[in-house]
Amino acid sequence: MTFEQLALKPELLKALRKENYSQPTPIQEQAIPVVLAGRDLFGCAQTGTGKTAAFSLPILQLLSERPPAGKGKRPIRSLILTPTRELALQILDNVKAYGQFLSLRSLAIVGGVSQKPQEEALERGTDILIATPGRLMDLMNQKLVDLTSVEILVLDEADRMLDMGFIHDVKRIIAKLPARKQTLFFSATMPPEISKLVQSLLTNPAKVEV
Ligand code: AMP
Repeated sequence: MTFEQLALKPELLKALRKENYSQPTPIQEQAIPVVLAGRDLFGCAQTGTGKTAAFSLPILQLLSERPPAGKGKRPIRSLILTPTRELALQILDNVKAYGQFLSLRSLAIVGGVSQKPQEEALERGTDILIATPGRLMDLMNQKLVDLTSVEILVLDEADRMLDMGFIHDVKRIIAKLPARKQTLFFSATMPPEISKLVQSLLTNPAKVEV
């Protein structure tokens, strides 16, 4: 299987060549067509399997093909929630690398650093927001972030977000998103609380296990 066969657009294929990715990993092979088709996804996968590209590549493709509604500031159209600052910054790096030949903007919002530059970046607008739940919740409580245009939600490492005590924040964040959206859910393990979340958040999901 090649990335070309996954029907990715030329700008993404060019970026993948530049990154020296010669062929998709198993999770990418299985997840990319599902996400491009607009379906919800439940991915059972660890870090190191290539799951970041499995969700980032089709998100970049879908957003680049659907221009944002209206004029003015770009609305946030994809929200990626992840448990740690390190993961958020890694995802941002990957999204920027894969999207280098597209004109989409991405931004990471993480705790442990000053909030002001993040507020200013949000004010300038972004298509893709990658965030840890705590800092995002703070910014939402201050009405500094608008998630009413989110079309695609990613929950990355959902089991770790649960273990780290973020689940209430995650639920409160999701409650502010439009009901109609595509949801991509990744977890390495399936404790009962995760199964319950999957059932409440996903509609007829494709299940991908690697
Ligand atoms: P992840 O599981 O998303 O954290 O990815 C693990 C590592 O594999 C990252 O350094 C990626 O840049 C790299 N990677 C992901 N997909 C591919 C691929 N298809 N070919 C080569 N490297 C990849």
